[in-house]
Amino acid sequence: MKTRRDFIKLSALGSAAVLTNSCLASEKENNKKKTSQNKITKPIVISTWNHGVEANASAWKILNKGGTSLNAVEAGVRVTESDPNNSSVGIGGLPDRDGFVTLDACIMNHENECGAVAFLQDIENPISVARKVMEDTKHVLLVGEGAKQFAIEKGFKETNLLTEKSKVAWEKWKEQSKYQPVINSENHDTIGMLALDEKGNLSGACTTSGMAYKLHGRVGDSPIIGAGLFVDNEVGAACATGMGEAVIRIAGSAIVVELMRNGLSPYEACKEAVNRIVKKHKDLTNLQVGFLALNNHGEHGGYSVYKGFNYALQTNTQNEMIDTKFNKKSTR
Ligand code: ASP
Repeated sequence: MKTRRDFIKLSALGSAAVLTNSCLASEKENNKKKTSQNKITKPIVISTWNHGVEANASAWKILNKGGTSLNAVEAGVRVTESDPNNSSVGIGGLPDRDGFVTLDACIMNHENECGAVAFLQDIENPISVARKVMEDTKHVLLVGEGAKQFAIEKGFKETNLLTEKSKVAWEKWKEQSKYQPVINSENHDTIGMLALDEKGNLSGACTTSGMAYKLHGRVGDSPIIGAGLFVDNEVGAACATGMGEAVIRIAGSAIVVELMRNGLSPYEACKEAVNRIVKKHKDLTNLQVGFLALNNHGEHGGYSVYKGFNYALQTNTQNEMIDTKFNKKSTR
């Protein structure tokens, strides 16, 4: 039987919960009001990490001329994929532990159409293969040999993706063969890009060589629609970077979009998703994840587990890098 004391405790807790919920609800309402009053910022493109600056510049050439967000994100991330000096995306990506460069990518447009490839070898621009999967097949995801065969049928040429620099790094790693993800380094740094075009349509792209020296066959979040990327034109778009396994465990990008649907700003939605990852993992050592989000009003934001995540922004009036806020300062 409950004592009066328990009852008082429970009622106090109850009213605190009501208060918290109603505060949250009113915050959501305020956000909704603010968003509907604000002018829409478009076109706009955002993308993860420093390599986003160059990628955005290419996307911007399309957006600025009234082109589609889909064409923009594809063209944008292709720049990073084709840069042999970038060791975490496309050609020049660090290989898996057996020395194979295996690429993952996905793309999604404003009509919820999407395409993806995973564990793809010898093709420099997986994002364009992903787009072909979206446009020329009834499927969403092709993997491995099948994805490569499909790419070749579509006219993509075979290229050796293991550059001399990456080979040397892998050979050095083999001396110790210690698989240890390093946060905020090119050991694993996807490019995720989100864009809103002049017509108000959102698209996103995400592409990576995944974690350096991963197990052969490992696929992360980046080609998984809902994990590495998600777009819903009624709400917004989100993408992820960092430890893919942790992103998949919370259906990361889909969750960020759902949180925005419920009234959170892009920043608040990314923060809530990161906090969920922090809550669900007992060992956070080196577990870096960053989320990036853009809503259909052109508002954007990001948040990460650890300090050090940033993103590139380009609009008619801005061209800058933004450091995100984070849950933890130190890496342990
Ligand atoms: N998310 C990617 C993966 O897990 C890597 C990264 O973004 O750093 O494959």
